Amino acid sequence: MTYQRNAIVTGSTSGIGLGIATAFAKAGINVMLNGFGDPREIDRLRKQLIDSYGVKVIYSNADMTQAEEIKLMVELAREELGRIDIVVNNAGIQHVQPIEDFPEDKWEAILAINLSSSFHTIKHTLAGMKSQGWGRIINLASAHGLVASPYKSAYVAAKHGLVGLTKAVALEAAEYGVTVNAICPGYVLTPLVEQQIPDTAMARGISEEEVKRDVLLKAQPTKKFVTVEQLGELAVFLCSEAAASITGAALPVEGGWTAQ
Ligand code: NAD
Repeated sequence: MTYQRNAIVTGSTSGIGLGIATAFAKAGINVMLNGFGDPREIDRLRKQLIDSYGVKVIYSNADMTQAEEIKLMVELAREELGRIDIVVNNAGIQHVQPIEDFPEDKWEAILAINLSSSFHTIKHTLAGMKSQGWGRIINLASAHGLVASPYKSAYVAAKHGLVGLTKAVALEAAEYGVTVNAICPGYVLTPLVEQQIPDTAMARGISEEEVKRDVLLKAQPTKKFVTVEQLGELAVFLCSEAAASITGAALPVEGGWTAQ
């Protein structure tokens, strides 16, 4: 890549977003980080990426439930980095409960963060990508964007919606050098998932290894977690010229889960 690209990665202070931001920095792409967390830790991450890879790394604390904050985040990225070439819509949360008891505020928050925030980032960046004749939009959906599991109504609805949004915008952008794709991971051992393992082991009276194999990886034929590095490399590939004809796709990265 000769021209140094600029990317916004939402929800990149942890887990998959941080894995993608790191892979971008490694590939020479300037990055805007976003997400919550201890400001000192976020600043440490930012400086570590700058020192390791010599790219520009900036940060926005925009809350993905707030349309106005998303608009300001995009404006800040333009001011500090220049044109926006790549947007990764990754911020997401989960809540697991039967629908009869599902709290209204959790439904609203999941729809806002996991789906509507992507509408807002795309709305504010697509015109620029179209006029510059190059752009990449990558939406972090899930295996739950392709198939369902019980008790995850809001998450499954939001992720299926995100796959639909991906296809619609891919068609709108297709003739302008802008690709729009969804990545659909299975289980990834992010800090969020890791924290649940000891509690689940205790609750079920089984070992932590059994929790991983028989509970978390039950649906994943490879019996292996997807890694943030694999997702980072895929995101970098989607930003390459070799991937220019991949658009409107929902790419499963789930160890065979949805083949069953
Ligand atoms: P994570 O909890 O490790 O990271 C989530 C990130 O989103 C964090 O940076 C957090 O600060 C940020 N975030 C949360 N709410 C926010 C808000 N209101 N505004 C701005 N940022 C906010 O989670 P993860 O496992 O890395 O998940 C990242 C994405 O990947 C999510 O969209 C998730 O649904 C999807 N995903 C995860 C898995 C998995 O097994 N971990 C599987 C499939 C899809």
